[in-house]
Amino acid sequence: MSMPTIKHVRAFTLRGGGADYHDQADGHWIDDHISTPMSKYPEYRQSRRSFGLNVLGTLVVEIEASDGTVGFSVTTGGDLGCWIVEKHLARFIEGARVTDIEKIWDQMYNATLFYGRKGIVLNTISGVDLALWDLLAKVRKEPVHALLGGPVRDELTFYATGARPDLAKEMGFIGGKMPLHHGPAEREEGLKKNLEMLADMRAKVGSDFWLMLDCWMSLDVEYATRLATAARNEFGLKWIEEALSPDDYWGYAELRRNVPRGLLVSTGEHEATRWGFRLLLEMECCDILQPDVGWCGGITELIKISNLADAHGKLVVPHGSSVYSYHFVITRHNSPFAEFLMMAPKADEVVPMFNPQLLDEPVPVNGRMKASALDAPGFGVRLNPDCALYRPFPR
Ligand SMILES: [Mg+2]
Repeated sequence: MSMPTIKHVRAFTLRGGGADYHDQADGHWIDDHISTPMSKYPEYRQSRRSFGLNVLGTLVVEIEASDGTVGFSVTTGGDLGCWIVEKHLARFIEGARVTDIEKIWDQMYNATLFYGRKGIVLNTISGVDLALWDLLAKVRKEPVHALLGGPVRDELTFYATGARPDLAKEMGFIGGKMPLHHGPAEREEGLKKNLEMLADMRAKVGSDFWLMLDCWMSLDVEYATRLATAARNEFGLKWIEEALSPDDYWGYAELRRNVPRGLLVSTGEHEATRWGFRLLLEMECCDILQPDVGWCGGITELIKISNLADAHGKLVVPHGSSVYSYHFVITRHNSPFAEFLMMAPKADEVVPMFNPQLLDEPVPVNGRMKASALDAPGFGVRLNPDCALYRPFPR
């Protein structure tokens, strides 16, 4: 079979939820007084949108092959991501064979080293990479997971992230991860409220259900140690997530040494590339790595991160990212379960994570998803034609 070449890459922006899942209307649990590194400023404490968490918007990358097949992806990146794709990365993509995924990644990464390495540039490289995997799998008429070695389990099991682990338990999830609401700036009273929320939820879900806290980079080592110790010893917390700044590898190493035995330390959703995760592993920063496949460098890089983690005996439980995670998690022994982000404003029902941007996006039923739900070619999703795409830098 002769492999098609890539004719065009196009980059679009899109507003209103979806891949930029923080871009929600008022009254959503995901923007309700969640502790952040900006919470030290009272004027930015109530809402994450107030300090601009939703400024980027969704980046849609569309790649068209010479045989007419189109692959696409969505991630967070907006206009800036479009600029990087159209003005810089397109030269490495157009004209290449659809199988040139590894070479294109290497060229994109090395050509952007002088202004990239992490953040928006890696989000954008991830977006291109996911679209390339979608394209190649569609050309081959196979699901992406088949290209990754195939499923190692018959189904995925999920924990739920949201404000209502008690409802998540009723819906069949294996655990519930809540956002932390009060940071160190709210002092002892805030710490007390954080523990009261956990106590209340533990009483509602019983003793066996996993409960986790997502601290969204907002704590310091001392506060995180106190919180984790009380939360583990009194309320059986399963893990404490992203307690510190992603730049503070030394703090994570100290926190992991400080917390009670059995409590897991997780981080990595704002980390990127094999080199960033190598630091987390070699400095013994955590027990669970949580790369976001739409931000860490795409599937091509997640393979490397996952293999490195496996050799260190660590779990990889990717952050959110819907089908882009599911196709990977189902192929890995060291990714035994997956995250589901509850995007219903009150976290009281299961809705597709990237709603409304994708069609055919599978969701867990009773906290599970059969491997057969992922058997359509590519990542198995379509862009919703009702969503208005905007191409800021057409060529
Ligand atoms: Mg998180």
